[in-house]
Amino acid sequence: MALVEKIFPDLFKIELPLPDNPLKAVNCYLVAGRNRWLLVDTGMNQRACKVSMAQALKALAVDLSRTDFFITHIHADHAGQVSVWAKQNSKIYIGRKEAGFVFTDSLWNQACRQARAHGFDAETLQEIRQTHPNRKFGLKGDAPVQFARVSDGDTLRIGDYHFTCIETPGHSPGHMCLYDDKKRKPWAGLGVREITRAAALLYQRFCA
Ligand SMILES: [Zn+2]
Repeated sequence: MALVEKIFPDLFKIELPLPDNPLKAVNCYLVAGRNRWLLVDTGMNQRACKVSMAQALKALAVDLSRTDFFITHIHADHAGQVSVWAKQNSKIYIGRKEAGFVFTDSLWNQACRQARAHGFDAETLQEIRQTHPNRKFGLKGDAPVQFARVSDGDTLRIGDYHFTCIETPGHSPGHMCLYDDKKRKPWAGLGVREITRAAALLYQRFCA
């Protein structure tokens, strides 16, 4: 069951469950404009996560034929369902750099080269590549998804919100946040708490 919470006027947080995943949940956000909605991130392409997103969209009475998307980064828990919900006329915004990793193995190859340099054996890495949630539950390559690429400093106006796209690389090379200068709240994308938690989980998984 998705948890829907109004956090600002016309702006809702949607918490989706991530079963069998140490992260446990992922936050997506919905901005209600006057004519169109903006859904920020989408959750994993995994049954329980999709059911929860469907419940949330229904609870918020979202018209998908009038909905655009903003993908903060290409990881499965953020981009996985975009092809499930996007319509032909949906705009799907993503950072220009991050778009270069869609439907390619370049990020995996880079991560594996780094892991090999730090002592991981090839067999272990091959297993990770085949079983990792980003592989199993990510954006599928057969989906008709056309991205609208945004760069650092680009702006998006949704209802009373006037967002600036801010490139925040680190967690992912082309990670993007949205920031509303008037409201002075960066609210989309991973916060410091989430990044710290993810780093701790990785440490437990591979180093502890
Ligand atoms: Zn991520």
